[in-house]
Amino acid sequence: MKARSQPPAGHAARLTVDLDAIAANWRTLRDRHGAPTAAVVKADGYGLGAIPIAARLYAEGCRHFFVAHLAEARAVRPAIPSAFLAVLNGLPPGAADAFLDDDIAPVLGTLAEIDDWASSCRARGRSGAAMLHVDTGMNRLGLPEADVALGANPDRLRGIDLRYVMTHLVSSEAPEQPVNAAQHARFASACAHFPHVPTSFANSSGIFLGDAFRSDLARPGAALYGINPTPGRANPMAPAVTLHARVLQLRDLRAGDSVGYNATFTAAAPMRLAVAGIGYADGWLRSHSNRGAAFFDGVRLPLVGRVSMDLTTYDASAAPHLRPGDWIELIGPHCTPDDAAEAAGTNGYEVLTALARRCERIYTPA
Ligand SMILES: *Cc1c(COP(=O)(O)O)cnc(C)c1O
Repeated sequence: MKARSQPPAGHAARLTVDLDAIAANWRTLRDRHGAPTAAVVKADGYGLGAIPIAARLYAEGCRHFFVAHLAEARAVRPAIPSAFLAVLNGLPPGAADAFLDDDIAPVLGTLAEIDDWASSCRARGRSGAAMLHVDTGMNRLGLPEADVALGANPDRLRGIDLRYVMTHLVSSEAPEQPVNAAQHARFASACAHFPHVPTSFANSSGIFLGDAFRSDLARPGAALYGINPTPGRANPMAPAVTLHARVLQLRDLRAGDSVGYNATFTAAAPMRLAVAGIGYADGWLRSHSNRGAAFFDGVRLPLVGRVSMDLTTYDASAAPHLRPGDWIELIGPHCTPDDAAEAAGTNGYEVLTALARRCERIYTPA
């Protein structure tokens, strides 16, 4: 992107989010799942903006949404007025009335949460929608196997409009892992306690594990945003994000000159350095220091030195036509979120969610 003619911007780090691509990805996942498919928009839509994304997917026909916290649910509720909206992290003490007020479904994961929700619904004289999370191996949230029969007691559930029983996969992106089949078997036994309740199973990668992992509601997040749900194989998702940073200065370094905090890079020969206005406060992770690259007109500019709070430095020797004010690509056609993650020693999820911090966000179509 050569944007010399654009009006002066107040930001030097620009994230573009392609809502049409996210909508296309949702359709791809739904068609692949062959059954109803939700959208996970927690963490502000994986850093990309939960409200515009949820509104776009609602317009596309998506009617089930997930966030992690009640505060996130309340923020997105007005954009998706009549959709099913559930909070994955469960029902905090004292929060039941707030859930009921905004028609937000808690994902219940302990007997205490079940009892709290049931008694709150009965006290309000109405039934409240909820999901039940059963643990099948993650050991984070969800009823342990030993509590499932207790949780299925109809007296205990009185007042609860139990919409789905769900579980969450440990290693869905690794189809060869035996834990997938083990979780499948444990989930089937748990669901046998709830013969008439629909099920919710696969996340993004789980959708690609095959028909046995189909349920009444898939819960993809990452793949909507273009992260590859099938690592090691071709990415079936459309790219949805670009990230550009503005070049603030170009400097000519002599052999022996060092760059940035702690002088972790030293020029071996004369070189041209581009200083870009993005740093870890924008979510460009410090673990990119001396790893990865940006691109300008397809030319690779290796990242040199430490990523600092507001600045990142690149070897621009190969791009003599680069000028101050130009925008260089950090995520885009030449470097996917998964590529950036590999350079930074993390996953695409962390690369995207980190960008929620300070970048300017632009949505297309406008
Ligand atoms: C975050 C989350 C998802 C979405 O997972 P992706 O791998 O991003 O598709 C689904 N279910 C639960 C319980 C989650 O926490």
